[in-house]
Amino acid sequence: MWVQRRSRLAEKRAFRVYREGPRDRDALLLPAGELRRTRARLFAPVASIIGEDVSAMRALPFLAETCVHEYPCSVPEDHPANRTYELRTFGCQMNVHDSERLAGLLEADGHVKAEDGASADVVVFNTCAVRENADDRLYGTLGHLRPIKEANPGMQIAVGGCLAQKDGDTVLRRAPWVDVVFGTHNMGSLPALLRRARHNQAAQIEIVDSLQAFPSTLPSKRDSLHAGWVSIAVGCNNTCTFCIVPSLRGKQLDRAPQEIVAEVRALVAEGVLEVTLLGQNVNAYGSSFADPALPRDRGAFAKLLRSMGEIEGLERVRFTSPHPAEFTEDVVLAMAETPNVCPHLHMPLQSGSDRVLKAMRRSYRSAKYLGIVRRVRELLPDAAITTDIIVGFPGETEEDFQATLDVVAQARFASAYTFQYSKRPGTPAAELPDQIDKEVVAERYQRLVELQERICLEENEQQLGREAELLVSAPHEGKKNAQTSRLSGRSRDGRLVHFLPPEGAQLRPGDFVRVRIAHAAPHHLIGEAVAGSHRPTTAGDRYSRSQALEEPPTNKSAGVSLGLPLMPAR
Ligand code: SF4
Repeated sequence: MWVQRRSRLAEKRAFRVYREGPRDRDALLLPAGELRRTRARLFAPVASIIGEDVSAMRALPFLAETCVHEYPCSVPEDHPANRTYELRTFGCQMNVHDSERLAGLLEADGHVKAEDGASADVVVFNTCAVRENADDRLYGTLGHLRPIKEANPGMQIAVGGCLAQKDGDTVLRRAPWVDVVFGTHNMGSLPALLRRARHNQAAQIEIVDSLQAFPSTLPSKRDSLHAGWVSIAVGCNNTCTFCIVPSLRGKQLDRAPQEIVAEVRALVAEGVLEVTLLGQNVNAYGSSFADPALPRDRGAFAKLLRSMGEIEGLERVRFTSPHPAEFTEDVVLAMAETPNVCPHLHMPLQSGSDRVLKAMRRSYRSAKYLGIVRRVRELLPDAAITTDIIVGFPGETEEDFQATLDVVAQARFASAYTFQYSKRPGTPAAELPDQIDKEVVAERYQRLVELQERICLEENEQQLGREAELLVSAPHEGKKNAQTSRLSGRSRDGRLVHFLPPEGAQLRPGDFVRVRIAHAAPHHLIGEAVAGSHRPTTAGDRYSRSQALEEPPTNKSAGVSLGLPLMPAR
């Protein structure tokens, strides 16, 4: 009711702004949450008249539609409404989610996503500084774009993310054809920076060291209609010696629980069935609320998980990544006692050697790690536990590596993201003297992979004959699905299952179905759909509608872990 009244008011005021100029521009402002429901491309004529970025406006969609229909006006050639964009994302889940926000900002500003393979008017790089050769890859790619840009002077190139935060104006020195450089805390400025660069015919750079606002307050264009990421905290208070995150993303700041719950409720109202709570260190949530009025609360993460259980329509809750040092009993209890929290724990091990963990400045030891694994299995016997492991950290001996193999054998991970250590510029570990020979690292890595692959297969074989409920994934998740006529889905414990749909059933991404597991491989299962088990959902309905509108959504959020490079989807 309030929204309707407010909308009518805003509509009238928008017409006045349109006719009389910017005198009453503030009348257009509405609460930020409503921006998501806008189709801001349609605001372009109003925005061009009031001389303000569309991204700064908060108005309702029909308002702008009415403006356009009743008061048609021509949109300038270079206005965002006519410009296409392409986003190239490198790095971790945090970057994947940040890219959703960048897409949301660009679309709120009137840009439209470029068709696959078509050259875009605006190319945005969301970079990662984790890898040793990240700079080379970025500058190499920028070099390839140079002749394209020279042939098309209206094209703009923007570089954001961790590498931009780290390199700052070096990006412009090394690639002077770049138009915009923005830091990890300046995502919200991207549309304004692009506009300013066009207007001033000069490159724009904006990098601040401190967080001005949670990225979650920015609009986002979610990649999936049935699953969404929700940031609960940004930054990290730890100082792992191999990790660049703390120096680029700053100290941890936690969002207020009511804000998180409100965002999740809003997603569920839009049809989202699964959320992943996201943070560099989720179980430290509550130690540093951004709102000074909120007292430190070490039980806040467990309480947050339990509050997810009260959200009607929210079927699955995941979180990534917890830190073993912060893992407390109340979190395990909340996982076990909250039905919609999935029986899946992704908990980075990094090394099984206490000596290496100490050198990494990871403040837990292997016994504590294995104790958490045991406790989780006591309370959630079917939980899938997954991890990240780094092989060849400086100073790692054969004995240290054997300790990692021992922990892996005991923990029996359902899967593991394994990495060969490489120097990450700007991290303390990059300066350590005992860097391990690359061949030694590769040989150890191979042994670790062989052990983990065997365990993956054995663990997956335990699933044979069992039934699992799957949330049907976007079509691309099973690479061979087109040849095999199969669909794919994720079980509650996060396993990837390919299956033949039941006869005659029209399964859409976002629907649920039960399958009986018939075949196991290390990284996937194959199942047979149980007749009559298809459960259509509103997310599936939305997918069908999006197909009818020829706007196929994608779900690019492959299983990757925070602070670590993207891995191919398994
Ligand atoms: S590895 Fe994780 S916990 Fe350690 S510093 Fe990086 S983000 Fe923080």
